[in-house]
Amino acid sequence: MDQSHPVIKNHVLDELLRPRRIVFIVNPKAGTNLQRHIEKSVDKHLDHKRFIYGIWHTEKAGHAAELARKAVEEDYDIVVAVGGDGSINEVASALLHTEVVMGIIPAGSGNGLAMHLGYGRDIDQAMRKINTAKVQTIDCGMMNGLPFINLAGIGFDGLVAKLMRGSNWRGFLPYFLKSVEAGLKYTARTCTIETEDQVITEKCFVVTVANGPMYGYNFQIAPDARLDDGLFSVVLFKDVPRWQYFAAVPSSLNGKIYDAGFVRHFSARRVKISCEGINYVHIDGEGMEMPGDLLIEMVPQCLKVLVPNLDSNV
Ligand SMILES: [Mg+2]
Repeated sequence: MDQSHPVIKNHVLDELLRPRRIVFIVNPKAGTNLQRHIEKSVDKHLDHKRFIYGIWHTEKAGHAAELARKAVEEDYDIVVAVGGDGSINEVASALLHTEVVMGIIPAGSGNGLAMHLGYGRDIDQAMRKINTAKVQTIDCGMMNGLPFINLAGIGFDGLVAKLMRGSNWRGFLPYFLKSVEAGLKYTARTCTIETEDQVITEKCFVVTVANGPMYGYNFQIAPDARLDDGLFSVVLFKDVPRWQYFAAVPSSLNGKIYDAGFVRHFSARRVKISCEGINYVHIDGEGMEMPGDLLIEMVPQCLKVLVPNLDSNV
């Protein structure tokens, strides 16, 4: 009789049942009581039979990526980004092409990716969702060599992100006010957008290259974007009177932005964008100026993420 089977079986079982090592990377600047809240939430809502946890705090800009790389070196199974799309971007960039899985506890202002994946915006609820979440492998994009997980783009939203960067005031109201300010300041400009199968020249207010569908606050800029199909959804806002953009806000909340007359959209794997004037770009909501052409490339299936199991009742 072959004796090896039970041994192999036990080994597989041990691996399956072994508690997972999980670390939460918290940016204390994301909220005044966040640190305390996360500690309490982990204690109360994380399944301690399934996870052995650590909580690490960031101390400076770029530190989340550094800590995530440390977690990879120390063989953690899961690294949870506690924050908004910016924190997620930092953590994810350290986990690309590794077996380490990224989780999310939404604690930023917009939380576009967390909302799309089904984490919601409540910390305790998101913590419980981690207990039963599944692993999914998703794509990422690179804009001039910088990775993004959710959205990258140029135009009005890039200017909003830049204006938000200078402000410590977070939340919907400042975001809305900065949007109005940017809406008044920003003028549409002629952009040439080249993909693997077409070249478009258009006067654009916004050019978004979407891996995920959603900005923060449920604004769906690219309702058809899928995180794992190897394609970007490219969305252009053509130059029309500004009131038309504001009038389209309700349809963007309902996933119907493509019905607006000023929207043009298509899929692509590779996008080159050349615009006149200063390039106000954003990468996962982080605003910056980036001179020259923008080259955006798809990196398929490069990141493992924990996705809430929406069948389980938590
Ligand atoms: Mg896609």
